[in-house]
Amino acid sequence: MSISKILLYYKFQPISDPRAVMLWQRDLCQSLGLRGRILISEHGINGTVGGDIDACKTYVKKTKEYFKGIEFKWSEGGAEDFPKLSVKVRDEIVAFGAPGELKVDEHGVVGGGVHLKPEEVNELVENNPDVVFFDGRNAMEAQIGKFKDAIVPDVNTTHDFIRELESGKYDDLKDKPVITYCTGGIRCEILSSLMKNRGFKEVYQIDGGIVRYGEKYGNQGLWEGSLYVFDKRMHMEFGEDFKALGHCIHCGAETNKFEHCVNEDDCRQLVLMCPDCFGNVATRHCGQERCVEVAREQAEQLAQA
Ligand SMILES: [Zn+2]
Ligand SMILES: [Zn+2]
Repeated sequence: MSISKILLYYKFQPISDPRAVMLWQRDLCQSLGLRGRILISEHGINGTVGGDIDACKTYVKKTKEYFKGIEFKWSEGGAEDFPKLSVKVRDEIVAFGAPGELKVDEHGVVGGGVHLKPEEVNELVENNPDVVFFDGRNAMEAQIGKFKDAIVPDVNTTHDFIRELESGKYDDLKDKPVITYCTGGIRCEILSSLMKNRGFKEVYQIDGGIVRYGEKYGNQGLWEGSLYVFDKRMHMEFGEDFKALGHCIHCGAETNKFEHCVNEDDCRQLVLMCPDCFGNVATRHCGQERCVEVAREQAEQLAQA
């Protein structure tokens, strides 16, 4: 039996002909039987692909020839974790809605936050009581885990960050040391540069994001709770001894599992629901009135059947 793997990676580097790189990457993945999602822009590449371990190794080798110094994270899984192969050219490899603002050169993002290794994060916090963590993810992700006392901006998607940063809500942070963080580090590459452009003077970002910090410190450092992940698992922990931050929106029971609202046609919300409340159709909703109604109707139909 062959072993499969999933690769996660990104690299910021100027690409003069994104379409040519897209065609090359698509051919490469097809010839190796890899599936997944790859975005390419004039600023770089952002991808997740899965497949046979030897195919992954060949992919890494070939991709490194063009994207020098690119780092790959290996994780469990395979081609079957993705519905198909999708390789696309976009304005941005992460959609902040600011393609014209991002500057990239051969060293990566220009004018971004200072990169910190996990141990440097702890040092900075120990030596400076003013340091604040600033969550670079969607607010929902922070419901089950975040850095200690982190500020969680009110964002549904990365598109909302610019509006938040310009709202004035965070102006008191402009003179403080701010550590941005996100899952694997890519979102903060961009976010930290957007913050610096808007007058935040001392901005940092965590090398390798929460994933690398958690690998180093588990639950013994400044990270608290579960990490939201964008695959079937929905969440992961750095050891069994994690602090449970998430609560069921209906009964308040501890949970770290997001579930889809029952109103599938009309609501894309993921909300925290405990197994009992999710198991009962009447409470399998996100709380919005129209969704409560849908849940009630479905529960009634079930009762009559
Ligand atoms: Zn519940
Ligand atoms: Zn809903």
